[in-house]
Parts: sequence; structure tokens; C-alpha cells
Amino acid sequence: MNKYSTAVLSNTEIYEKEDNLQRSESSQECNIIWKKFLDLLSDSLKKSEISTWFSVITPKSYINNVLTIELPSKDYYSIIEKRFNKQIVNVIESGLLGENGKLIYEIREDNYDVQNEISLPAGKPKAQILDINSRVTANIKVNEPEEFVSNLYSKFTFENFVKGDSNELATATAYAIANNPGRLYNPFFVYGGVGIGKTHLIQSIGNEVLKNFPDKKVYYTTAPDFTTQFTSSIAKDRVELTPGTLGTKKLDAFYKSLDVLIIDDIQNLAGKPGTQDFMYQIFNTLYNNKKHIIFSCDKPINQIKDIEERLISRFKCGMIADIQLPSWEMRVAIIKRKFSENNISVPEEVIHFIATNIKDSIRTIEGCIVGMIAESALIYKGNINQEIAEKVISRIAGSVRRTKNISIENIIYAVGQYFNVSENNILSKKRTKEIAFARQVAMYLAKELTNSTLESIGLNFGGKDHSTVLYAFNCIKSNLKKDDSLKYQIEEIKQKLKLL
Ligand code: ADP
Ligand code: MG
Repeated sequence: MNKYSTAVLSNTEIYEKEDNLQRSESSQECNIIWKKFLDLLSDSLKKSEISTWFSVITPKSYINNVLTIELPSKDYYSIIEKRFNKQIVNVIESGLLGENGKLIYEIREDNYDVQNEISLPAGKPKAQILDINSRVTANIKVNEPEEFVSNLYSKFTFENFVKGDSNELATATAYAIANNPGRLYNPFFVYGGVGIGKTHLIQSIGNEVLKNFPDKKVYYTTAPDFTTQFTSSIAKDRVELTPGTLGTKKLDAFYKSLDVLIIDDIQNLAGKPGTQDFMYQIFNTLYNNKKHIIFSCDKPINQIKDIEERLISRFKCGMIADIQLPSWEMRVAIIKRKFSENNISVPEEVIHFIATNIKDSIRTIEGCIVGMIAESALIYKGNINQEIAEKVISRIAGSVRRTKNISIENIIYAVGQYFNVSENNILSKKRTKEIAFARQVAMYLAKELTNSTLESIGLNFGGKDHSTVLYAFNCIKSNLKKDDSLKYQIEEIKQKLKLL
């Protein structure tokens, strides 16, 4: 007698009759539903696949939108799951089993029971694949590492993460999650360019959760590491003697046991459908169990390529926040923080100077600061001054600008970029042809585009005399009348200046 039906048999005759009646109705309906199921499957599978793999499956019952089917063995189940899971999920997603539809696999082997469910939870538009239920989990031994390792770096914390306009929403969300993981904003998808704090922020959530809830299992990984784990677990599947102790099942059980899963650089899953499928299943289980999932990505969701739509739709179903490049004010705050973390005090003007010059990622700002600290330790006895800042910045950024919003400085910067002459050279006394020409163009533009006096322009050009400025201005002005290419160059520089 089938062990799954014994539970509903009664000792009394009446119950037995009712039961028999119900079961025959249910089994009829069940056969019809299963036939429809196979019909829908045949839309996406070959006839030969259906007859080889599905003809030996027996539909057992269809009660309250739950279809139970019996598979001959665990190996059979593994094959079906591996090969046809996607198509089976599609059939459930089509609504065949109705609202909250569920598919239950039952497997009968001498000493191995598996029951696995694929279901459609209330209110969710898509099918979900639920965890292997408790009976099986007991059979599959999860050999976790002796000591659970979260992979979090202790240096990434909220305390040393500078908040500002560019990361306001992402940071607020991160705090809310850390105080109440698994509840609001699940999943959390944070995106932005490189070196602007994505890893720092998502790891901070993990560290903060552990601080608030020391018993929670928080795990950080990157999409490339996740892929490697998955592919090597498949390889182990081929050699394992005791099922579930080495390969994908073990990895699956490990991930599904987490309270908070943080996956960095999710864009790297592109073009890896097997890994995406594995991630999708883990996602669904964790999500359904109110466990938090946090992703980072180097681009907005709608620009992600080669990741399956169903996974993309999962990314979208929680909170999405971006991190932008930091503003000038925020760069100032970050630079101050980084120097103070190193117990180095730096004059305010030097900090402003660095913030004006390093506009790209926070990683680049850190690189500059490390460079300055190293340089100062070697030559300047630990003091960071303007000279050292200029030196390091021109090494990293190629040229320097002195202040934030002075047009003459902008002009010098733009002309330097245009003629590929460093700003330092423009400001110097060097008279080589290219440098002198770039300097004259810059002086001409300074006179033409700003209200500064000749004296003031001279001073801004490294202390030149006003007559030098006037000479340069007249020289370029008269050349402009006869030289069309010079005219064109000046126009181009003016265009660029508008963009500064
Ligand atoms: P991403 O993951 O976006 O490429 P990271 O998180 O690795 O960038 O950040 C690069 C570096 O900049 C890290 O050392 C990080 O600590 C630092 N950093 C980024 N954002 C901030 C911030 N808001 N406050 C302080 N340090 C930051
Ligand atoms: Mg990162």
C-alpha cells in the first residue's frame, strides 16, 4: 500500500466509503490535470522527451490546487529537476493549477524519501520553487564548515561610511535593513559605477546585522565566487558516493539556511544560465522564508544583459537604490574622514584642493590619500601640504586645478587639456613654442571671457606682468583675423568651457 494514502484512510465503513468516493473523484480530476500538464509541457519539450521521462510519472492526487506526482527514484527526480525544471515552472506559472498552485514530487525508494514542492504562493505573480521539505532536509546532511565564515570584512562598517547626497537613499535603506532584516526592502538592489561604495555599503549591512543579531547567519559572496562554487559543486556531484554530502545539494542547502545573503557584482552572472537558475531557486526559498537578499550591480537593472527575465524580475521586486559619484562637499567630507582615520591633520585649503581635483571614484580619492601619506612620510616628515597634494594629484590625475569655481582656473584647465600642455607648464615661465602658444590662448580667453583686470590675470598665470597678458591678447586677436584654424580651436575650447 502506498504510504502517502494511508494517512487519509479511516477505520469506519462510512468514512471508508466517503473516502473512496472522494478519492475516485480526486483521482479522475488528477488524471485530467496531469494530462493537461503534459500537453502544456509538450509546447516546449520534444515528444520523445515527454514519453521517455514523463510517462513513468504517476499522478497521485489533485486537492486544493495541489498536484502530487510520484517519481520512481531519487535519481529520476534529480534528472527531471535538472533538465526540465524551467519548463515545469512555466506550466505552473501558466496558472494551470490555479491560485496558490503547487506541485509536489513524491519519491519512493527503499531508504530515501524526497518530497519537493513547486508552488505559486498567494499574491505572487510568478511560480516559486520551495525548499525541499523537512523530511528530506533530515536526510541530506549538510556538512557545513566547522566554523561558519561570513566572508565579511570588519573594516566595512556604517561608522566609517560617509553619508551624503550621492548615497542617501541607499544608506537609509541599508540602515533599515540592518535593524530589521528580512522585513522591509527585500530584496535590496544597489547599483552604481565602480569604486563608489557599493561593496562597502552592502558589507556594512552584514556587519551591522551581526552586531544587532549575533545568531543570524550572514553570508557575503561575489557573483564570480558564487559561480565557481556552483560549477565545482556540479563536478563533485559526479563523484560523490553519498548523495547530498558534496555537490549542488549541499551547496543548495547551505545557501537556503542563511538569514542574510549578500551577493556583490551580480552583473557577472550574465551569460551563465545554469548559475542563474541555481540563484533563482535559492532566491525564492530565502525570499519566501523572509530571509534578506542583497545584491549589488555596476549598472541599473534595465541595462543588465544576458540575465534571465525571471531573475531580473526578482531583483525588481524589493528596493532599488543607486549610488552616484560624490559631490564636491561629500568629497571634502570623505577626505577629512580618511585623513582623520590615519590621525593626520591637513589644512582645510589642501582638503578643498584635493576635492576639487579628484572628481571620480572614492577609490581614486583613497588612492590619492594613500599616495600623499606615503610621500609625506618619506620626504615631508608626515605633514601634508599643498605642494605634496599637487605632486601626488598631478601624478594620478595628470594635471591640477587650483580652486573650484574661478573662471580663469577653468580656462587654464580647459586650454591645457585641449593642447595637451600641463597646467603647471602654462603657469611656468617656459617659452617652448607649444607652451607659450597655449599660455597666450589661455590669457586671451581670460581677458575675453572674464571681467578680471590684466593685473589680476597676470597674477593668476603664476605672477606674470600685465603687459605680458596684453601682448598675448593682442597677438591672438590679430591672428584670429587671418587664421581660421585658430578660430576653430578657440571655439572648441569655449564649447568645452561651457561643459566644465
Ligand atoms: P564599489 O564596490 O562601488 O566598487 P567600494 O565599496 O569597494 O566600491 O569602495 C571603494 C573604496 O572607497 C573602499 O575602500 C571604500 O571603503 C571607500 N568608500 C566608498 N564609499 C565610501 C563612503 N561613502 N565613505 C567612506 N569610504 C567609502
Ligand atoms: Mg565592489
